[in-house]
Amino acid sequence: GQCILACPTASLSEKEDIDNVWKVLSDPDKVVVAQTAPSIQVTIGEIFDMPKGSFVSGKLVSALKRIGFDKVFATDVTADLTIMEEGSELIERLFHTPEKLPLLSSCCPGWVKFAEHFYPEFLPNLSTTKSPHEMCGALTKTWYAKKYNIDPSKIINVAIMPCTAKKYEAARPEMTSDGYRNVDYVLTTRELGRMIRQVGLDFKNLPDENYDEPFDQFSGAGMIFGATGGVLEAAVRTAHKLVTDEEMAVPDYEQARGQSGLKYGEVSLGDKTITIAIAHGTGNAKKALDMFKSGEKKFDYMEVMACPGGCVGGGGQPILGGRDHKHISLDYRHNRADALYNIDKGKSIRRSHENPRIHQIYEEFLGKPLSDVSHKYLHTTFLARGKHPYLNNKDNIKEVD
Ligand code: SF4
Repeated sequence: GQCILACPTASLSEKEDIDNVWKVLSDPDKVVVAQTAPSIQVTIGEIFDMPKGSFVSGKLVSALKRIGFDKVFATDVTADLTIMEEGSELIERLFHTPEKLPLLSSCCPGWVKFAEHFYPEFLPNLSTTKSPHEMCGALTKTWYAKKYNIDPSKIINVAIMPCTAKKYEAARPEMTSDGYRNVDYVLTTRELGRMIRQVGLDFKNLPDENYDEPFDQFSGAGMIFGATGGVLEAAVRTAHKLVTDEEMAVPDYEQARGQSGLKYGEVSLGDKTITIAIAHGTGNAKKALDMFKSGEKKFDYMEVMACPGGCVGGGGQPILGGRDHKHISLDYRHNRADALYNIDKGKSIRRSHENPRIHQIYEEFLGKPLSDVSHKYLHTTFLARGKHPYLNNKDNIKEVD
């Protein structure tokens, strides 16, 4: 279970979303597209009694196709795109608008909502880059629809995500492109597990299938997004190339890894050394921001994930490791994160800017990072929401499943 602060929409009915997705899947007029977050590929196997950290992307695609999805996309591709945009923002702020430092990551909606309520003074610091699932949704209704000659009003984008906070993010009024909602439905890993059971698929023994073009190839950097520190590590790999025009000799940034709640470090980008922070759990983000405000600790770039361990520990993930615990157990988080880092290590493309699909998307649609088209479809805004009375009442802050 997750704290209500991490999952502001835990009250949304899971059943309702499953029913709605079944409904669109049975509508022959719709082109129903699934996208799967990086972490799902190493967690959903647990629901079907596979060892923790099993890498099951092929079976995941296979299951979604058998359920009835017309296309299955990897959100990892747009995680690479998020890195291109956010890495460019980092450089823009470091060299041209230092008053907007520290740059704070914004791909976790649980954290964004926390900042909107409790740290509105830091909203100008949030990266305006949309999160990967919103980018995938925006591109399917625009670039993809045009490229494959599909009426965007017929496309339904269903995101398989690690948490219910993504449901809230998908419902935000800003998250539309040319009048179409980027992501129509969000299902958690557990909800998809339930649907796979409903049709009686033998998940463990499904054949492997590949993701569909053009959201099929991704870098190791796109995959590690699912673990705490992964976004920052991915961004550092690309920022290094953008600033120095050279690749980081070893693309591993070990300081970003591991399960400690709040980490600080330094990264050299050529002649420039920047300071970084990584927080998971909103309590740790609070600690880091308070220390920044008091001057006790300075940093140029911080990644925040609301869930312990990042998305591999998300509230919508299988809880087999955590039935007796308040949160998904550390052991499970370790295994899932290690699985992502191992896959990254084995990939020939480990940096977002080396992904051929990313080159294609910029060539055919966006132009370059932070272009006008990028800003129109792939960037967003935030809202100071004031202290929420429900959240302010300590009696109401409790653990929920
Ligand atoms: Fe959702 Fe990941 Fe944020 Fe948790 S860390 S709230 S799973 S986006």
